[in-house]
Amino acid sequence: MSRFFSEEYADLDPYTPGEQPRDGVYIKLNTNESPFPPHPAVTEAVERESRRLHLYSDPESRELREALSAATGLKPEELMATNGSDEALFFAFLAFCSRHTPAVFADITYGFYPVFAQSARVPFQEIPLKADLTLDPADYYQAGGTVFIANPNAPTGLALGRKEIEGILERNPYTVCVVDEAYVDFGAESCLPLIREHDNLLVVQTFSKSRSLAGGRLGFAAGNPDLIQDLNTIRYAVHPYSVNRMTAAAGIACLAQEKYTRENCRTIQKNREWAAGALRRLGFILTDSRTNFLFARHPAVDGETLYRKLREKRILIRHFSAERIRDYNRITVGSRAEMEKLVAAAEAILKESR
Ligand SMILES: *Cc1c(COP(=O)(O)O)cnc(C)c1O
Repeated sequence: MSRFFSEEYADLDPYTPGEQPRDGVYIKLNTNESPFPPHPAVTEAVERESRRLHLYSDPESRELREALSAATGLKPEELMATNGSDEALFFAFLAFCSRHTPAVFADITYGFYPVFAQSARVPFQEIPLKADLTLDPADYYQAGGTVFIANPNAPTGLALGRKEIEGILERNPYTVCVVDEAYVDFGAESCLPLIREHDNLLVVQTFSKSRSLAGGRLGFAAGNPDLIQDLNTIRYAVHPYSVNRMTAAAGIACLAQEKYTRENCRTIQKNREWAAGALRRLGFILTDSRTNFLFARHPAVDGETLYRKLREKRILIRHFSAERIRDYNRITVGSRAEMEKLVAAAEAILKESR
């Protein structure tokens, strides 16, 4: 830290992104990226748009919001495009939390939530998941703050049904509930259909996981027009051009390739079920994942060791050191070939350690 760094942020404990190694070739199953490249029509759209890079992007992302509107059935004024869904989430911490309205979220969830709360200078309260890592909606019935729920949750992979989220919305009419649906396309129920009935609901989605655009940085928030307006107030106070031209073009082109997206999601789901079965046969214990990753532990090998030994075999997975989940690893579901290599490597490691 330089001697100039603001004392306001001296205690900031920033997010640790998954490794992006540069020392050679790894099978990367650590950051929940898609194994599929963007559709060629997306690449072409980006190339075409790059010829107009001398012009600022549209701060309202009108065309993209029209396309999102057509895809979701929501009105453009119920939608806001952002630089990754991380930006939408951070805007929500700034817009809907305060000294008197803490952020409320699970003890085991997306690691960015506590970081965003710290960056926004708002207090936060963590509600422990149950022993089996499920979330009890009743724990959020008098949340007393702005609720952030990743659904499906990361890194557990577990999902609540729409009705259960609705129960939380109904019992917290005076605070916003943000539902982070980064993984919803891999087999959970979206809360987008609840937006018209609940003016305290903000749904956040991303193009990073199911839509093969992690490097493009595109997400969106959906909610009552007043909530969206609040987020825009924050946006215009921070970064009006955060969605650049090429990314907006990629998003529009991507939405026109819904069939490609859905096929890829189905393939990931199939690979997930295959890998989950194979790992269970090796003695792994897994959660019932509705995402593009598995969350697994093995009684005979601790999480850190498995992570390290797989890394030696050039397979990267994600290990978290938090007390409650350090026995586990989060394993992105990649191609079938990648999953086969993962299972074979895990089997070899288990044999060695016996
Ligand atoms: C990946 C992820 C995000 C956001 O990713 P972006 O790339 O910023 O869109 C948000 N929430 C959860 C739970 C995630 O896993």
